[in-house]
Amino acid sequence: MVVLRILYRNFRISERRFSATSVNRDKYSCKILVVGGGAGGCSTAAKFARTLKKNELIVLEPSEYHYYQPLFTIIGGGTSTIQEARRKESDVLPKNCTWIKDKAALYDPDKSFVTTEKGDVIEYDYMLIAVGLELRYDLIPGLQEALDKSSNVCSIYSPKYAPQVFEVLKNLKDGAAHFTFPNSPVKCPGAPQKICYISDHYLRKQNRRDNVNITYNTSLPVIFGVKKYADALWKLCKSRNIDVNLRTNLVNVNSVNNEATFQNLDNPDEKKTVKFSMLHVVPPMATPLSLSSNKKISNEAGFVNVHKHTLQHIVYPNIFSIGDCASTPNSKTAAAAAAQTEVVFRNLSAVMNGQSLPLSYDGYASCPLVTGYDKCILAEFDYNLNPLETFPFDQDKELRSMYILKKIFMPQLYWNLMLNGYWNGPALFRRIMHLQFMDKKPPAKS
Ligand SMILES: Cc1cc2nc3c(=O)[nH]c(=O)nc-3n(C[C@H](O)[C@H](O)[C@H](O)COP(=O)(O)OP(=O)(O)OC[C@H]3O[C@@H](n4cnc5c(N)ncnc54)[C@H](O)[C@@H]3O)c2cc1C
Repeated sequence: MVVLRILYRNFRISERRFSATSVNRDKYSCKILVVGGGAGGCSTAAKFARTLKKNELIVLEPSEYHYYQPLFTIIGGGTSTIQEARRKESDVLPKNCTWIKDKAALYDPDKSFVTTEKGDVIEYDYMLIAVGLELRYDLIPGLQEALDKSSNVCSIYSPKYAPQVFEVLKNLKDGAAHFTFPNSPVKCPGAPQKICYISDHYLRKQNRRDNVNITYNTSLPVIFGVKKYADALWKLCKSRNIDVNLRTNLVNVNSVNNEATFQNLDNPDEKKTVKFSMLHVVPPMATPLSLSSNKKISNEAGFVNVHKHTLQHIVYPNIFSIGDCASTPNSKTAAAAAAQTEVVFRNLSAVMNGQSLPLSYDGYASCPLVTGYDKCILAEFDYNLNPLETFPFDQDKELRSMYILKKIFMPQLYWNLMLNGYWNGPALFRRIMHLQFMDKKPPAKS
């Protein structure tokens, strides 16, 4: 009898809990749901906000602040601040959309709804997934704690840690400076070496370069994916006395003894521990677990499984993806996301109107390879890793004009044009500069 009474009481408690949660749950429905209000999500939402009503367009984004991440490299060099890279999310999202400040926790593509972390349910007709890549500092033992305390370990990749990079650089008097590139997909694959070149230039300006050995350790078998720029970068490393270790992956950080352990990826049993005076780490990255664990939406590697030219989901025609979390095999950059926004906008609009998909993404990505405090190699290329340069001169040279473009012009372009849905990448300028006025955009490939 006592057991029965206890069981009954527990049942009533769990019943109350259940109804309390269901009362608190909100249910939304919309025409377009944009998951993630970063570079790609915000820019594409701005385009749709011009024609949809406020309640028809929902952006699901958890962050209070939006960051212009390409500036993190410059912040690491001490010539920009985190405040310049940050805006309130409410100031950058289109006014004509409904912002739900929460995270996607569960996707149900068959029933077309998303459940948020707080338990709200959002039904959609069409969905754009733009959740980017997460930084997984936790995957390298010793790294997170090294970054969270005052140490010689630093990283430009997170807004939390980027300002610390210049502090470490200022304190670097002698010894070894190591820079890393992880064994995972990476956003802006050029950034790990940009900070290496900036550090080299800083030490030269301070007359300390002769006292410091600089090594760039990359898990990749090449210094850069595009041969034209790789050739230029090899020359640069040689002339600046920067050692490069290929297929070398950071696996452990000991910030008490200032020791880093690297693994030879071609012979995983071979590990080497080195002393450092400065260790700049680029963390492993992955798409958020809520996405990568959903095998209806994501591919083996955890990326939204979309067609590489149309950006439409392979199985669900009402789902598109843009930016770092899409399975498209391009270099993951904001420049690539810019080139994708118009493709997503026009192709998704066509699906909504029952028409065939008009645009095709060619894999365009650009990487302004900053090589110091006043020079930059502007790499631009397509899916086939062929250069796709905007300017009518060879861009594999270190140029001051390209540095000004990167530091002064591009942030303005981002905040004022791209996030408002008015910048689709430089394709038009490229055609004008190369006198290809009559070129037509290729139709979408199926
Ligand atoms: C150090 C550094 C240097 C860089 N340099 C350059 C450069 O020079 N040039 C260049 O073009 N690019 C550069 N990039 C890369 C560029 O910033 C990214 O490629 C670009 O921001 C990708 O846009 P995105 O919309 O895919 O992702 P993001 O802009 O990262 O946005 C993703 C958004 O999704 C949100 N989100 C995450 N999980 C969820 C969830 N579960 N539910 C809802 N929302 C979620 C996040 O809060 C975030 O706002 C750099 C990046 C870094 C870190």
